[in-house]
Order: sequence, then C-alpha cells, then structure tokens
Amino acid sequence: MKKKFDTRVIHEGQKPEKEFGSISKPIYQTSTFKQNNLAEYIYDYSRAGNPTRTDLETNIASLEEGVGAAAFSSGMAAISAILTLLKTGDHIISNYNVYGGTFRLIDQILLKMGIEVSWVNTSLINEVENALKNNTKMILIETPTNPMMQLTDIKEISNFSKSHKLISVIDNTFMSPYFQRPLTLGGDLVVHSTTKYINGHSDVIGGIVVAKDEVLLEKLHFIQMSVGAIPGPFDCWLTQRSIKTLSLRMRAHNNNAMLIAKELEHNSKLENIYYPGLTSHKQHSLAVKQQLDPDNNPAFGGMLSIEFSDINKAKKFAKNLNIFILAESLGGVESLICHPASMTHASLPEDVRAKIGLSEGLVRLSVGVEHPDDLLEDINNALNSI
Ligand code: PLP
Repeated sequence: MKKKFDTRVIHEGQKPEKEFGSISKPIYQTSTFKQNNLAEYIYDYSRAGNPTRTDLETNIASLEEGVGAAAFSSGMAAISAILTLLKTGDHIISNYNVYGGTFRLIDQILLKMGIEVSWVNTSLINEVENALKNNTKMILIETPTNPMMQLTDIKEISNFSKSHKLISVIDNTFMSPYFQRPLTLGGDLVVHSTTKYINGHSDVIGGIVVAKDEVLLEKLHFIQMSVGAIPGPFDCWLTQRSIKTLSLRMRAHNNNAMLIAKELEHNSKLENIYYPGLTSHKQHSLAVKQQLDPDNNPAFGGMLSIEFSDINKAKKFAKNLNIFILAESLGGVESLICHPASMTHASLPEDVRAKIGLSEGLVRLSVGVEHPDDLLEDINNALNSI
C-alpha cells in the first residue's frame, strides 16, 4: 500500500546508502562518471543526470503525485523550462497577478521570441474562455497569487485546458504539496520555487517541475539537459534534507498565520487583509475545497497580505517590527515582511499593479514557525507605533 505523505516526505529517494549503510545519503559531488564500457553507464555527466538530483526529483514527484520531476537551479529556471515547450507563434493565457519575475519573463523575454500572451483574471473562467485563440497552447496559473492571495479553481482550469488540448501549469509555491496537489485536480504540470517552503530554510535557490505524464516529463528532461539550468548536487542534498520536515513546518506556518489573520481581521489601522483562511476572504469556499492537507483537512498556508492606507504607514510598520525581517522571499522558518510594490513586484507596470489592487500601502507577511505569542506581540507593537 502507498505510504502516507508524512512517511514519503522522509523516505522517498532516501534509501540508506548501500556501501556503508549511511542513513544520510552521500552527496554525489561529481561532474562526470566512469563508464565500464562504451556507452555502458547509469549516469554519464552531471548536467544530464546526477544521483543526488534524481533523489530529490523522486521525492517531490511522489509528494505531488506525478510520474516524475525535473529539478532546476531556480524557480525562474523551472518556469523558463516550461515555457520552452512553446514555439514562436504559440499563445499562452496567464493571470496578470503572478509573481513579478514570471510576468517579467513573459513580458520582456518571451514576447520578443514571438510568443503571444493574454493576461486575464483566471479566477473568472469566462475571461479565460474569451482569451482562447486557435494558437493557444498553455494556461499558466498561480494559486493563491503572490501577493494578493487570489485563488483560481484548479479543477475548472484543468477541465477547460483538457477540452481544448492545452497544457495546464500550476505554480504551487505558496501552498507546497503538503497543502495542495494540483495534479490530482487535473493539472498537467506543477512548478515550484523550491527556494520557498520546500527548502524552507532560506539557504538555497532552486526550482522543480513535476509532470503528470511521461511525454511531458521526457520533454522537460530534454530541456533540462539541453539548456543546462540544473541545480548542483549540494543544493539538491540540502533541499532533500530540508524537505523531511515539510509536514511539520507547514502545520506550524498554517497555525501561526491563521492566528495572526484572526487577530488582524478587525484592526482599524488596516484597510484590508488578504488571507484565504478567513471567512471574509472572497474565495474562502474555494480555498476550503482545493487547499487540503494529506488527510483532507482544509488549510490556508503561511502567507498573508495586509494593506495600510499609504506607504508611510507601511514603512513605519515594517521598520518597527523586531522578529519579522524586511527581506525578499518567503516560506522559510523565520518570519519575513516584504513590500511588494518596491520589492518582489517592482517589475509589474503601475497600471497592472493598480488593476490587481497592489497598492503602495500593501505589505506581505511570510509567517514563520516561531512561537505565535512572540509573533503577535511583535505585530501589535509595530501597529501601536503607527
Ligand atoms: N513563483 C513564485 C510564486 C514565487 O514567489 C517566486 C519567487 O519569489 C518564483 C516563482 C521564482 O522563484 P526563484 O526565486 O526560486 O527563481
């Protein structure tokens, strides 16, 4: 019988090493491999494949319920690899509220290569339907979105995608496979910035794509080997070591973020709060349906955004926090705060930022796994200073 998530996250791709029985597997820190005879080998060259990378790919593919995975040197390299499946003249549909780097990649690099894009609100299926063209080949979504915490119905998008023979791609970075498994809802490809929750310790940049079928997986491995944006063995090993505590960390992130969201929900110093776990969130019922832990309990993750009436208040709040650190990135054990308009989403044109509601007063919290009492005290102190 298939083992539970909490068991697979520790043991998949992590059988004790054969020679000495070492529980922590050695890092295959090598660029090349001895061949016993001409073309007689398992691995020939580490750009094409490396056992430490295979272990990580095996582990994450199992957690996302895919047939296999291809690891990359960053989340952006993973997204680029997916977009390399397209050719000049193809068209993609995506949400204008995606991570700023994803928007920049499509807007400033892909368009120059003759790939067309329609930016729509993928939460509204009629906008997706209206954007469909004869040359549409792919739909790329992020749910929840960074930083507005807007949700897209993965099942609905996947069904639409299937009926028009498109490839559906879901960026699952915010939820991690512990809280959302898009391939089980019909998606074709899942992508992660493993830099975030999967690694979880703010010490590795990485990315991964998990495929639902062998045909797509083979194409991705070909791109991985040909383009060469691969992670080194040590980064794969670190990520594999860190993922073992994913379940424990995600439960703590979720509990802490929920407590903070509830505490802040009615705070008069805030204009808005965006957290799918609150019943006041516009898409709470969708969150309850598609964001589930491995035992099928609804979960909402560790990310939330709050909005002040202007940038000065946002600045003052960030400055007066002690535990939350002002920094890019998210998903680590330590709590971080970020100002998307000037940091992660600075590359989004101003009109797009206005369209998605990303104001200068908005700050994004990546709630860590510190003690919730300390986090609440830190937030309340900073709010009192405004
Ligand atoms: N996808 C999402 C949702 C992200 O938040 C990020 C980075 O913040 C990326 C992709 C890009 O990942 P990386 O920074 O590892 O290249």
